[in-house]
Amino acid sequence: MKRRTMALDHPYRQLPIPTNAPFELKPSPGRGWGAFATRRIERGALILSEEPLFTIRKPHAEITNEVLLRALQKLPASRKRMFFLLRDNASGAFQSLKHAFAENSFNMASEDHTTGRQLDCLHGLFLLHSRFNHSCSPNSKVPVTVTGGEITHLQSFATRDIAPGEEIAFSYAADFGCRTREERHRELRFVCNCDACQPGTPFQELSDMRRRLVRGLQYLQTGVDLDGRRQDAPDRPLIADPQLKRAAETFRIPLSSRFIYGLLVMSLLEQEGLLDDFLAERLSRNVWVPFAAFETESNVQVAKLAMAQQDWLGRLCVAFQLYGRADAADQALATLFQSLSGR
Ligand SMILES: [Zn+2]
Repeated sequence: MKRRTMALDHPYRQLPIPTNAPFELKPSPGRGWGAFATRRIERGALILSEEPLFTIRKPHAEITNEVLLRALQKLPASRKRMFFLLRDNASGAFQSLKHAFAENSFNMASEDHTTGRQLDCLHGLFLLHSRFNHSCSPNSKVPVTVTGGEITHLQSFATRDIAPGEEIAFSYAADFGCRTREERHRELRFVCNCDACQPGTPFQELSDMRRRLVRGLQYLQTGVDLDGRRQDAPDRPLIADPQLKRAAETFRIPLSSRFIYGLLVMSLLEQEGLLDDFLAERLSRNVWVPFAAFETESNVQVAKLAMAQQDWLGRLCVAFQLYGRADAADQALATLFQSLSGR
C-alpha cells in the first residue's frame, strides 16, 4: 500500500506529457520508471517529439555544476521547477546538477554527412525521453543523426508494432547491434535483462554469434572496426584469417563477396529483430553499391535475380551463387575505394 501511494505521489506524475502521446510513465519492475504504451503503436509511428528543457553548447567535460547553475537561472520559474522533479534512478534527489544533467541529456550535435564527424558540441536536457529505459532488443529508436542544420527536437519512433501496455524502450548506444552481451554490459555499466541478455537461453547465444558476425562482416566491407580503427586483438581477432583481414584493409574484397556480405548483414540483423527502417536505409547502401557496380554480364544477371526476391534472406540465398566469382569491375573498384579512403 505504501509503495502504491509513493508511486501516485511521485514527482514524475507532474512531468508534462503531451495529451495525444501514446504512452504513460509508471514504475517498471527492477528498472525505476519507464514509458508504457497506452494504445497500439504501429511500426514507423512517431512516439514523441520533444524540445529540450534547455541546452548547453559545450563539450561534455566542460559541463560543470557552475555552467548548469547559470543555465538554470536563465529559465522561467515553471521550467526551472521541472528540472527539480528529476530523481536519481527514480528515487532520491540527485547529488549534483552535473549528475542530473548527465543522466537526462542527449547529444544534439549535427554531423557532417560525408565524414560522420560532429560539427559542434550541443547537449539538451530532455525530461521525457530520459524516462525511457534501455533495451538491446528495442521496440523504438531515437534517430539523432540529423545531418546539417540544428536539431531542435528529439524524436522517437516505433521500430516494430507495440502492443498496449508494453514498455517502450530504445537502445542507449547506436552500435549495440554489433556487440555481444558482455561488451554491452561493460559499456552500459548495468545489467540489462532484455531478450538478448537473458543468460543461458538459445536466443541469447544466437544473438551473441549474430552480433559478432555482423561486426566482422562490417570490418570486411569497410576495412575498419566500429571505432574507425583497424582491429588488432591477437587474443580474440575479429577476422582470424590474416590474408582476408589484409584484403579488407586494402579494399581488395571482390565485388561478389561485398554483395554477399551486405546481404548477410541485412539478413542477420533482420533475424535479430534490429533491422528497423532507419538502419535498413543506412545499411542497404552496402548492398546497392556492389549491385550497381557489377560489370560481368553473368554476375549482373544473378545479382538482378537476387534483388528481385521478396526478403533479405531470399536475396542472400540467390546471391550465394556468386560466391568466389571474379568481376570485371573488381580492380577498378578496389582502386576507387583506396583513393576515397586516403589509405
Ligand atoms: Zn539487453
